[in-house]
Amino acid sequence: METYAQEGRWMLHLHRRFENAWKVGCALVCILDNIEKFSEQKRLSDEASVFMAELKAIEAAIMSANSHHFSSVKIISDSRSVLQALCNPNNCTTPIATIKSLLGSSKTSCELIWTKAHVGTEGNEIADRYAKEATTREEVDLPICLSMKHIKSEISKAILLDWQHQWSTSSKGRAVHELCPLVCSQRIHGNYFLNQIITGHGAIASYQHKFFNSSPVCSCGREIEDRVHIIFNCEIWKHIRGKFFPKNFSNRTLQQLLNHKQAIIGVELIMKTKLNKIVETLQT
Ligand SMILES: [Zn+2]
Repeated sequence: METYAQEGRWMLHLHRRFENAWKVGCALVCILDNIEKFSEQKRLSDEASVFMAELKAIEAAIMSANSHHFSSVKIISDSRSVLQALCNPNNCTTPIATIKSLLGSSKTSCELIWTKAHVGTEGNEIADRYAKEATTREEVDLPICLSMKHIKSEISKAILLDWQHQWSTSSKGRAVHELCPLVCSQRIHGNYFLNQIITGHGAIASYQHKFFNSSPVCSCGREIEDRVHIIFNCEIWKHIRGKFFPKNFSNRTLQQLLNHKQAIIGVELIMKTKLNKIVETLQT
């Protein structure tokens, strides 16, 4: 162990624990000349992130170092992400700016050092144990004011969960559900031709029959023309399948084919051709 005359060697660690809900705790321990001098344990609001807990531990360490009038300390944390955020001159978020400001005004010279977690480093293990204990405290010591970003993220998650529940339990749009069972806010794009296959609506005889009482029979003679017949079986589109679909396309699901770059081109071409034929028929 190095000698730290008039210096404290601080070990910081945090622990997150699950009981009935997530409980968050952080702790710091001061080790001087191999001897534990003192420690602090704090329970944070249950909503606090691991990142925030580590920041609070560092904040507490700087303040403690000042109140103990140390000339310099080494603050040792196992959170690489927090230390990287503190080193980033472009990171000006409120919690990071608060620590940077504390470091700037601190009378104690503070050196932040990273250590690997859970490898038996003595001070780190002690801090880990204390942080775990902190989660069992009855009262919250450090209420966390949630950032707008965090609140927006939580609202987005709740909306997605609600949307997923409605999409999974609804009786509507089951053809689309078969291909897209999971809701996704990133998948907002459309293709007029592909959408007819995805929804089963449009220039498909079975759909036209259902809504306009026209014939459900396919031009190839099959009794009912639906999307599976068009994409997998209809002889009329054999040449397009041969050109764009993978060789083993019959072993794939429609969903897999719609995720295949070349097959999508083929599906689009089939629907374009079908629509053109319908328009030609209507014009004659
Ligand atoms: Zn057919």
